Amino acid sequence: MGRHLVVVGAGVTGLLTAVRCARSGARVTVLDVGPVPNPASTSHDEHRALRALDPGDVAATRASAVLHRRWLELESLFGTPFYRRVGVVTGWPAESADAALDVAREAGTPVSPVEPEKYPHIRFPAGAVGLLEADAGVLLADRVLDAAARWLREHPLVALRPGSAVREVDADRAAVHLADGSTVRGDVLLVAAGPWSRELVDVPTVLHRQRIVYLRPPDEPARWWEGAPSAGRIGDDGLAWLIPPGDGTRLKISSAALCREVDEVGDETDRWTDHLALSSVLNDHERYTVTAVRTCHYAVDPDTGGGSLVRIGPAAWARAASGGDGFRTAPVVAERVAEEVAGA
Ligand SMILES: Cc1cc2nc3c(=O)[nH]c(=O)nc-3n(C[C@H](O)[C@H](O)[C@H](O)COP(=O)(O)OP(=O)(O)OC[C@H]3O[C@@H](n4cnc5c(N)ncnc54)[C@H](O)[C@@H]3O)c2cc1C
Repeated sequence: MGRHLVVVGAGVTGLLTAVRCARSGARVTVLDVGPVPNPASTSHDEHRALRALDPGDVAATRASAVLHRRWLELESLFGTPFYRRVGVVTGWPAESADAALDVAREAGTPVSPVEPEKYPHIRFPAGAVGLLEADAGVLLADRVLDAAARWLREHPLVALRPGSAVREVDADRAAVHLADGSTVRGDVLLVAAGPWSRELVDVPTVLHRQRIVYLRPPDEPARWWEGAPSAGRIGDDGLAWLIPPGDGTRLKISSAALCREVDEVGDETDRWTDHLALSSVLNDHERYTVTAVRTCHYAVDPDTGGGSLVRIGPAAWARAASGGDGFRTAPVVAERVAEEVAGA
């Protein structure tokens, strides 16, 4: 029998890593304090954006294009459609758009300039040029988690253990101690407890709290939205992102202007959170109905501001910082841990 991987956390990181390792013949145990998948996890949401273009970095853009293919492979493995390949359009000042296009060309990522007027319901910063990334779009996050959990549940080498609260991590022994007093030990351990990882492992992270708003468009633009891309660097200040409605999901808007560093995970509703200025993001905002507002958290590496995968023991890893693009990059983590499990 193959080696045993223990995963703490059944968010996108833990579930995709479990899938990857089980496919290579490893025995896998997934522990989560809640159900699997857990509606309280960061990963649980209607959608997440998936894109490759990193305008400052050709190598990163090329590497991310590979991730796009990985997600397509996963869709086919699970036999469930969860990737809406609607593209992602971002707004750029005219003077930096050419440089971003050069990066895309060099990386082999299809990106083309578009007039912001093509998207009459979305407000771009004044004078912005739109760049449309075609091999990009929206992952239907809940469906990803459900499909992965279903696949794992049916796999003979996998044990999903909901209701298993980990209290302590023994990184030296690749073991964890549970709240019920039991211990689970593996050959390799991955702690992927999202923003709660910092309660279990001593890996420096910066915690961010983000407010997101869900809206229902009125009937007439609803049809337009069905084919609309995800959009970023939008709004008057260029700090907002939106994910279009479609396939039963709602329109979702967030803004870097409403992201704050905080000390702990909590549902505190600061006054700032209620001021997502929809008027600066949607041209006809008064016709939309706000159906929900949600607070979420994600942790980043203090040095890079992105995600990290840190070795915490001879055969133990922590994904304490999954970053603001943890869906996009989850297949990379899965690959790295699979190498460790394979004894590479
Ligand atoms: C507002 C917002 C927008 C985002 N947008 C995007 C996007 O467009 N594209 C993108 O790629 N990424 C995006 N992200 C980031 C992405 O959602 C996260 O990086 C990713 O979901 C993190 O997944 P995870 O599996 O690492 O952690 P989580 O999904 O948080 O899962 C952690 C799991 O660990 C469990 N757990 C916690 N503590 C314990 C314990 N002690 N014992 C047992 N189990 C425990 C929890 O119950 C949970 O199920 C966004 C994040 C936010 C907040």
